[in-house]
Amino acid sequence: MSRASSSVSSAAARAAVFVDRDGTLNEMVYDDTHGIFDSPRRPEHVRLRPGAAAFVRGVRALGYEVIVVTNQPGLAKGTLTPAELEAVHRRLAALLAARGAALDAIYCCPHHPSVRACACRKPKPGLLRRAARERHIALRQSWMVGDGVVDVQAGRAAGCRTIFVGQLKPEVVEKLFDECDALPDATAANLRGALEVIRRAHRP
Ligand SMILES: [Mg+2]
Repeated sequence: MSRASSSVSSAAARAAVFVDRDGTLNEMVYDDTHGIFDSPRRPEHVRLRPGAAAFVRGVRALGYEVIVVTNQPGLAKGTLTPAELEAVHRRLAALLAARGAALDAIYCCPHHPSVRACACRKPKPGLLRRAARERHIALRQSWMVGDGVVDVQAGRAAGCRTIFVGQLKPEVVEKLFDECDALPDATAANLRGALEVIRRAHRP
């Protein structure tokens, strides 16, 4: 391959699997003070969801970049510091790396609408679009995988295929998400199922 054509192909867009963080890659954490499940704020609270490392390894083996896209409004609300967020992300990456799974990037929306409006908080597609610009990702060949309606909405708005990961019955998801105009391309009970969906659809 000539130098010119190899630079063309390396400039050509790659595909990514965008994946939600809380409730998808890592477990939510029970917050005693407020009686709710919330994002982990300390590295020692980070626990991988079942199948998270195998999912990351599996989609990378198919040639996808793995890019985490996460809303972290605690930064805007002052309940989470940038250093705490960084420590949580280092721990998440380390737990995955210990299982042979590497993340390519983490894109985070630090805003909250009560403080300021933005274009990146899911369900908006800003994080995915920014990643696509910066990393030469073809959104139409990419996937968005997550456990929330906002993940499906953001993925659809960006032009990706979408997978809802959760325990809801597919027909319940369909009804629920149809009402939000956010029907996913597929539903999977867990990340193992999501990997199978991507594998089946994958054409090298
Ligand atoms: Mg989530």
